[in-house]
Amino acid sequence: MRLHIGIDDTDSAKGGCTTYIAAQLVEKLSQMQVRFIDYPNIIRLNPNVPYKTRGNAAVALRLEAPDTEYDKVREIAIQTVEQYGRIGEEGTDPAIVFLRGKPPPVVVRLSRRALTEILSLHDAISTLRNSSGSAVSYGSGLGLVGSLAAVGNTLAGDHTYELIAYRRPRNLGKPRRVDEDSVIRMDRLTSPNTFNNYDPTNKRVLIKPHGPDPVLIGLRGETPRVVYRAFRLLRLREAVERWVIFRTNHGTDAHFKAVPPRMPQANSPVVLKGVVHTMPIRIYGGHVFCELQTSRGVVQCAAFEPTGKFKDVVASLIPGDHVTVFGGAKQHGQLPLTVNLEKLVIEHLSEDVVPQNPRCPRCDKRMKSAGRGQGFRCPRCCYSSSKISKRLVKRERNLLPGLYVPDKKAHRHLTKPLSRYGLEKRRWDGKIPTGAWHTP
Ligand code: ZN
Repeated sequence: MRLHIGIDDTDSAKGGCTTYIAAQLVEKLSQMQVRFIDYPNIIRLNPNVPYKTRGNAAVALRLEAPDTEYDKVREIAIQTVEQYGRIGEEGTDPAIVFLRGKPPPVVVRLSRRALTEILSLHDAISTLRNSSGSAVSYGSGLGLVGSLAAVGNTLAGDHTYELIAYRRPRNLGKPRRVDEDSVIRMDRLTSPNTFNNYDPTNKRVLIKPHGPDPVLIGLRGETPRVVYRAFRLLRLREAVERWVIFRTNHGTDAHFKAVPPRMPQANSPVVLKGVVHTMPIRIYGGHVFCELQTSRGVVQCAAFEPTGKFKDVVASLIPGDHVTVFGGAKQHGQLPLTVNLEKLVIEHLSEDVVPQNPRCPRCDKRMKSAGRGQGFRCPRCCYSSSKISKRLVKRERNLLPGLYVPDKKAHRHLTKPLSRYGLEKRRWDGKIPTGAWHTP
């Protein structure tokens, strides 16, 4: 029997982590008559869902077991979620989905929609009914959406790996003790096959989260081997309780690939081609706003301060530039829909032409306007003429066409970092996990 187990929404603002439950389950199931047919998957869903806890991630475990083991596997999964899930805390509505065989098309379709839409509990329940799956849910049951979506997304195309090491319970809430120099060294030795380890621009270690969750570090890379090697290169100053290598859609732009061609909708990813409509403006706080003329009308775009140099690139656009923008659409009250930019491709730069006062034909001094319709007058030699007019001068653009993404620290989990361009995988080889991929 092939069995897919999807789990979602077990964490709360106070702590917990769905991937930790997956790591616990890996330990328990690997002691049984069970064979994992894939690394545990972390599936990031639509990052624009407003009620998500942190990253909007669900997990899926995929395994093969004798039919006789089914009830036992199911029981252990339920027990583990009940033990480590933050059931009863605000906004925590866990669910576990069990699906035998291959995920049917109806579930695959739901998982695709979950990357770009906000699905309802009703969507999930009707999909579950049309599949052979079963589920256990707690609270409002909203976790059903993510757990079903995780089961249906088998990461057949581009994917990456993440090694997550977890903390001992007694260290929870304390600062994470990871030697910074060892992170820099590991980054030097393993990138670009690992990514988002360190942000040199802001001198920031990116492998450590900051919340109350049990994750000590997460190492992202192209293969299970390279994330394991990177892990061995780190000097950790606190004990690791357990670690697991996950296969994920991190850093793959999966949310943009799934965007259907339609009007931008609030809380959804957006990909839009257009022409810069007005001069971008920078507001208090450093955020940059820019209007884009598209085939669907004028759309407001925003690059926020934490995006670093990216917002300066947006600020140096001028009307007439041809761009493709990628981001998340947000609606704030009565304001027009705004696209929070996550990526920008400058296709074509327009000429920056500005009118300039002419030079004096006698003494070469820059002339001044003699008044509306009166021509120009030289402030040095007093030559004046009504026949001279302004000249158009081309200014240098300090910008090149191409791809721009925010500083690493402002990346979303799904954002494809610059270093991954060219490393994308067409498909997954389907090989079962081998070598060191979890402890214990
Ligand atoms: Zn003059």
